[in-house]
Amino acid sequence: MGSSAAYHLARRGMRVLGLERFAPAHDKGSSHGGSRIIRQSYFEDPAYVPLLLRSYELWEELKQNSGVDVYSITGGLFIGPPDSTTFSGSLRASEQWGLDHEVLTDREVHQSFPAFEPPAGQFALYERMAGFARPEFTVRAHIGLAEQAGADLHFGEPALSWTDDVNGVSVHTEAGTYQASQLVVCPGAWAPKILSDIGIRIKIERQVMYWIDHSPGSPSMEGGPIYIQENNNVEQIYGFPPIDGPAGGAKVAFFRKGTECTPDTIDREVHPDERRDMLDRVSQLLPGLSGPVLDTATCMYSTTPDENFVIARHPLHTNVSVACGFSGHGFKFVPVVGEILADLVEHGTTDHPIALFDPARLASA
Ligand SMILES: Cc1cc2nc3c(=O)[nH]c(=O)nc-3n(C[C@H](O)[C@H](O)[C@H](O)COP(=O)(O)OP(=O)(O)OC[C@H]3O[C@@H](n4cnc5c(N)ncnc54)[C@H](O)[C@@H]3O)c2cc1C
Repeated sequence: MGSSAAYHLARRGMRVLGLERFAPAHDKGSSHGGSRIIRQSYFEDPAYVPLLLRSYELWEELKQNSGVDVYSITGGLFIGPPDSTTFSGSLRASEQWGLDHEVLTDREVHQSFPAFEPPAGQFALYERMAGFARPEFTVRAHIGLAEQAGADLHFGEPALSWTDDVNGVSVHTEAGTYQASQLVVCPGAWAPKILSDIGIRIKIERQVMYWIDHSPGSPSMEGGPIYIQENNNVEQIYGFPPIDGPAGGAKVAFFRKGTECTPDTIDREVHPDERRDMLDRVSQLLPGLSGPVLDTATCMYSTTPDENFVIARHPLHTNVSVACGFSGHGFKFVPVVGEILADLVEHGTTDHPIALFDPARLASA
């Protein structure tokens, strides 16, 4: 979110200083692991769809301007019991916004995509425009374009604290103090520390990604769709085709099955019982994806109580804009969030519909 904001601000001709604690496109936050699902039939809430439509335009613009393959369209299957959020919520968003979609029975899913064997009685919404973004490529593309447009980006330089008054803001780092008229804070899992006064509790959760090999002779998933599948106890898994070639495995993960942590206490080791759980669960949908587990990685979600984002002017500090609490589903919005933050800095407001992301929504609840 920070690299996207730096890009959008710099290309509007503003003077931008960016401060990042670690190296470009590092793996210690929430934006690594090779792939992120992008989709438009948004089961979380159809209110996100206009932002997704704009994000897709900006994904394409980023691809063109950077020459980097930041996203790919593969189609997507959102599978579950007929009344599940994953299926019925995706259908609702598609119908409400007139998105290109198809409804498939479990058998039709298997006929069209032989690697998939959904449990009997489940349905899938097939969305043609779904696919995946490449998080590290995206961050690097935004950084490169931001620097080309004149942004001064400092890596390995954490912001230790900031203060503001009517004239602007001061940010303190070990290297010194910087003054600016406006500050944008996109701290990911560090929000509970650096944005402790925004009035929303953000829970940091450890999440695991698994790259799994398929058994010899099983139907190939290459070039196939991304997917999210819900079972009867509402647990969701999601995954990708093997996008780095068959030797890299196909990435799979539980959606929201995490343990609370902080960036300092997160357990980076993935344990044998966790691998077994993932293999058991994914084989109920993709029997060929039987292992072994080729690789794993941990990542953090920053989850708000209602799982909607926080994107707003800071409620207590006039010259500060914030973007955090992306609740495990923010990456597909990275390009449009940068645009929104640039609007908030330039105009104090935006034409994008962001009422859902106002931190006051929960303060008054
Ligand atoms: C396993 C996993 C799977 C996901 N899958 C999807 C998906 O399929 N689709 C989707 O849309 N979303 C997905 N998400 C969510 C999405 O990736 C996140 O919402 C998004 O990456 C959050 O970006 P961010 O900029 O807020 O956080 P980050 O990318 O972590 O960036 C925050 C940055 O702030 C820096 N920072 C923090 N404090 C300071 C400081 N004091 N000074 C300087 N720098 C600081 C950090 O070092 C970090 O680089 C997934 C997330 C995870 C973890």
